[in-house]
Amino acid sequence: MSLRYHTRVITHIIYSAILACLVEVFLVTNLSMAGRYAVENGGEGSLAAMFYQPDSLVVILYVLTGIAVFTITFLLLQRESMAYITKISAAMQNIAAGDLNTTVEVTGDDEFSSMAANINQMVEEIRELMDKERESERTKNELITNVAHDLRTPLTSIIGYLELLSGPVKLDAEMQEKYINITYTKAKRLQKLIEDLFGFTKLNYGKISMRVSKVDIIKLLSQLLEEFYPNFMEKELSYELQSNVPSLIITADGNLLARLFDNLINNAIKYGAEGKRILVKIKADEEYVTVSVTNYGYVIPKEELPLLFEKFYRVEQSRSTDTGGTGLGLAIAKNIVDMHGGTIGVTSDLDGTVFTVKLQIHFDINKEHFGNPGGTA
Ligand code: ATP
Ligand code: MG
Repeated sequence: MSLRYHTRVITHIIYSAILACLVEVFLVTNLSMAGRYAVENGGEGSLAAMFYQPDSLVVILYVLTGIAVFTITFLLLQRESMAYITKISAAMQNIAAGDLNTTVEVTGDDEFSSMAANINQMVEEIRELMDKERESERTKNELITNVAHDLRTPLTSIIGYLELLSGPVKLDAEMQEKYINITYTKAKRLQKLIEDLFGFTKLNYGKISMRVSKVDIIKLLSQLLEEFYPNFMEKELSYELQSNVPSLIITADGNLLARLFDNLINNAIKYGAEGKRILVKIKADEEYVTVSVTNYGYVIPKEELPLLFEKFYRVEQSRSTDTGGTGLGLAIAKNIVDMHGGTIGVTSDLDGTVFTVKLQIHFDINKEHFGNPGGTA
């Protein structure tokens, strides 16, 4: 820490002391000379004669004058610092009263200016924190509004069908079964929505702690694809896994990665059923591994591409078809990629819809502040 202010105070004390001494010397010589002159010229009892052979009263007078000269000089020299301290304290009072737009001008280069700079930085940090808090409050409210809406729709029809089933009108067995099936499907949909929401809020509000370990990403993906086998069969899709390396160990949270690719493959099956084929491609270099999931068929309009990763966003066409999504899958996927310090992007044209995830092979959780240093492609 610089001690510039200390040094300045000491310098000012020395200045003031020197000036006080000079004034004293000047006074003592001149006044005693005047006293002698008065005595020699017969002015024995005069005021000036008192200074010729000073008594204790005169000494006290000299001392007091010295102190006065010292104090006044010192205060004058310190005037600037005093004004600055007053400014800083006024700013602190403003900040304490809640005015976070207060800044203190940083002038000079001493303890006070660094104090002012620290205050400014502190206020800036508090302001950022509050903005973040406000933003998170806003997203939370938005989430609740959306959820309330999405929960109500299936619930209304569940209640409607249950009322029909338990109503006074006797239904034949076939109708009964049909209604029960619909109710069951809607209830399942509710369950999925609630599960997704839990997953999303947990990820989004940092309630999930990452468990990072060594994961063979190629094994993970081929296992995942195998698990999807019945779904591929059902949609009459074929799939292919391509990789430029036979196995690749990366540092990541395996469960989260499984969830990420589960969402992407699920989407490829759901929205690419017309395309007959799904391709998962892995490309590794020294630092990064890039995984792309490609499906064919429906092309996503260009202007919608950047919106896909927003929560609850669904492309118009899929909203109307009965694919039963909630629009959280890609928001969850992006969250997971962000947590790993990676990027996720999408392109879509007649050559296919491609979701590309780029991850660091040697991910270091301690370097990551849950931000996204590379930005999203
Ligand atoms: P959820 O995954 O939560 O069940 P969802 O699939 O509708 O619901 P997202 O996974 O976030 O939600 O996808 C958002 C939208 O992006 C989808 O509704 C769909 O319109 C579009 N989309 C996503 N993946 C593809 C894809 N592979 N091909 C075409 N459109 C896609
Ligand atoms: Mg999805």
